[in-house]
Amino acid sequence: MKRPVLNDHIKEEIRDAADIVDVVSDYVKLKRSGNSYTGLCPFHNEKSPSFHVNPQLKIYKCFGCGAGGDVFNFVMEIDGIGFVEAMKSLADRFNVTIPEMESDESEAGYQLTEGVYHALRFAGVHFHQNLVEADEAAHAREYLTKRGFTTKTIRKFGIGYSLNSFDGLIKVLTMSTCSRRA
Ligand SMILES: [Zn+2]
Repeated sequence: MKRPVLNDHIKEEIRDAADIVDVVSDYVKLKRSGNSYTGLCPFHNEKSPSFHVNPQLKIYKCFGCGAGGDVFNFVMEIDGIGFVEAMKSLADRFNVTIPEMESDESEAGYQLTEGVYHALRFAGVHFHQNLVEADEAAHAREYLTKRGFTTKTIRKFGIGYSLNSFDGLIKVLTMSTCSRRA
């Protein structure tokens, strides 16, 4: 059976090609504010904007309900679709060709692999966001600057920071799930 080849390389290619501001703008009226954009969160009811999109980091974050992630997460949440579908739809929209090859892997096995990959990606984005945004991570940012890490390197390798909280990631994951059910 022919399967799309959704490896790391093609995922990064889609992520680079996808304009997160453009994608979010389909659902949210965004206003520029410094290096990022803000608007009313599409995942919870609010009157003043706490939803932020950062086009450099290619991520979004709502400080009201905790929804956040990359362009793939946004499309999955808002359209209620799976990771593979989100990738295909973004590839289509931003003219990235996904190669295909023959595979013996069963549909269930394939979905499981994709699911595990996506969970790891979500965790990676979460820790990366901590590093670049959290007040608590200021000393870590200073340390990395001292060691000669540029913003570009930090983004490229998805360097992250774990806050001093043993359940930080699980809280974000739970909030993200709740917001989808709401
Ligand atoms: Zn929200």
